[in-house]
This record gives sequence, C-alpha cells and structure tokens, in this order.
Amino acid sequence: MNASRGVGEFDLIERLAARLEPLESGLGIGDDAAAWSPEPGRLVVATTDMLVEGIHFRLEWTTARDLGWKALAVNLSDLAAMGARPGRALVSIALLPGQADLAEQLYDGIAELARITGTRVVGGDTVRTPGPLVVNVALVGEADPERLLRRGGARPGDLLFVSGTVGASAAGLALLVAGDSAVLARPEAVPLLAAHHRPWPQLALGAALAGAGVRCAIDISDGVASEAWHLARASGVEIEVDLDRLPLSGEAVALLGSARARQLALTGGEDYQLLFTVPEAMLAAVEAALPPDVRLSVIGRVTAAREGGAVRFFEAGAPIDIPEAGYVAF
Ligand code: ADP
Ligand code: MG
Repeated sequence: MNASRGVGEFDLIERLAARLEPLESGLGIGDDAAAWSPEPGRLVVATTDMLVEGIHFRLEWTTARDLGWKALAVNLSDLAAMGARPGRALVSIALLPGQADLAEQLYDGIAELARITGTRVVGGDTVRTPGPLVVNVALVGEADPERLLRRGGARPGDLLFVSGTVGASAAGLALLVAGDSAVLARPEAVPLLAAHHRPWPQLALGAALAGAGVRCAIDISDGVASEAWHLARASGVEIEVDLDRLPLSGEAVALLGSARARQLALTGGEDYQLLFTVPEAMLAAVEAALPPDVRLSVIGRVTAAREGGAVRFFEAGAPIDIPEAGYVAF
C-alpha cells in the first residue's frame, strides 16, 4: 500500500465503482489497468480534460452531481467534434479528506451521462490533495478513419454553421458571478444555469456530420470568435462571420440584453455546440442526416485560402473588430 493513503480509499473506489454500469467486455476497475479490444478497422480517438476547483468551477455554484456530468460532457464534446463515438473513460479525482460523499455524488452525475451516451468508466485514480478539488476525465472513442472531423478541413466556398444557440452557458455563469438573487430566480435563468452546469455534448450531430461527408468541425468551449480562429488557422483560410446571424440564446438576450448576450456568445464559451463548415454541394446530405432535434444556423462563409488564417466579423454588412480572446487560462 502506498503510504499516502489509507484503507478508506480502496473502500471509496468500490463505492464509486458500484454507481457505474458493469462492463460487457474487457477489463475495467479492479486490475492494474483497463483493457479492451478496439473494433477492427476503426480509428482510436482519445481526449482528456481537467476541471480544477476555483478555476473551472465553484462548489458554491454547482452540485457535485452536475460537476460529474460536466466533467464527462466536456470530454464527450471533444469526441463529438471529431465525429467519433464514445467508448471508455478513466476518471481521476484529487479530494480533500472528508470529500468521500461528494465523490459519490460526482460519480452519480458521471454515471448518469455515461449511461445515456453508452460510455463505460473503466478506471481512474483517487488521491488526496491539500488543495482544490480536481476532476480529470480521459476518454477513448472510435471513429471511421475515412470520416474524421478536423479543424483543418475548411475550404474556400464552404458555408460556416453553428448548432443550437450560443451564449447560454456564459450567460448562466455571468448570472452566478453577479449574484443577484432576484435575477437568478427569474424563469429565464433556469435554462441558462442548466446550460452552464449540464452541457449537452453534440454526439449525434458529430456522427451525422461525419457520416454525411463533412470534414471540418470544432466544439465551442471558448466562444465562437476563438473557435472560428482555430478553424481558420488550422485550415489556412479566411472566414467571414455575419454577427447578425448568430443564434443567440433568447434567455440570455432577455436577461442581459442583446449586446452582452452577443459578446458572451463570441468570447464566453462553454456552449459545447459544434462550429463546422460544409461545401455547398454537401448541404442536402447534411440536411438529410441531421438528428431531428438539432437546429443549425449558417453564420458565415469561408471566402479564400489564406496562409496563417484570418477571421473577419461583419455587422449589418460592415466590418467590425472582435477580440479573438476566449477564455484565457494562463
Ligand atoms: P494502482 O495503485 O495500481 O494505481 P489503484 O488503487 O489506484 O491502483 O486503483 C485500483 C483500481 O481502481 C484500478 O482499476 C483503477 O483504475 C481503479 N480506480 C481508482 N480510482 C478510480 C476512480 N476514481 N474512478 C474509477 N476507477 C478508479
Ligand atoms: Mg492509482
């Protein structure tokens, strides 16, 4: 046994594991490592994201259950943006002494989204920390090697699409930061807080786009402006974005006004919608493949090849300066 931990940690791992679905195949929690057979001919796609208390979340604002959901959701969103299907996850947590109950609630949230999306938690690590709570999820999925969605897949002539609405999650966070209980009690706040605490990964859309032949997508973790720049740079193209077409969250507009809602959509982030480009010849195939509950908006166009990439924003037909910066971690 490692000197830094007690018997309680093994006990806790068992209680966490009990909340998860059993495996149909392969090795999961309980051995030195997880093991499974990838499907022949499929590409393995792997991603990881870490959430740190005080940086990415505050326990005064989120329940542990929602935090578990979100920790898995942000990873699933990365797979969605690659056109991949989820597979198996490893979950590592750093806890203060006395946070075992919180860890169990966290796993209830993880287990809930894992069940919905067919993700299996096959291992992880559990350690003590004197500092903030840390939750790290590593997620492995699979994709068709010929049909991966890449940031570098945009070509001149493509239309730029975004799914759903944008700005809701950042608006929810803005409400929490402002802390005005009268505003937080308004009915419009409910979907904004839900968007912030329980983002929905666009797995069905990502798979549909990949299947239809789309080649370029990114998920919106840092705001539309910064994600558009990522696509432009990786693809070596110039992208024009028509700000009048941004599908702003109606509740964000209602509570914060359209200017603030738009700014949050552009630079706030955590919407976990997909931003992607489609050649015009592929539009009918995309429409036919679309999951029934997904709404798409055309918000711009790839105008030209351009080394280094560029994004130009327009409002009422006139160019407008938008800072690229999304969420800045360091
Ligand atoms: P080791 O000392 O080899 O790292 P651990 O005691 O950390 O072993 O883990 C024992 C088993 O429990 C492993 O299968 C590991 O993947 C799993 N495990 C540990 N912590 C977690 C966790 N937080 N969530 C899921 N599985 C975990
Ligand atoms: Mg370990």
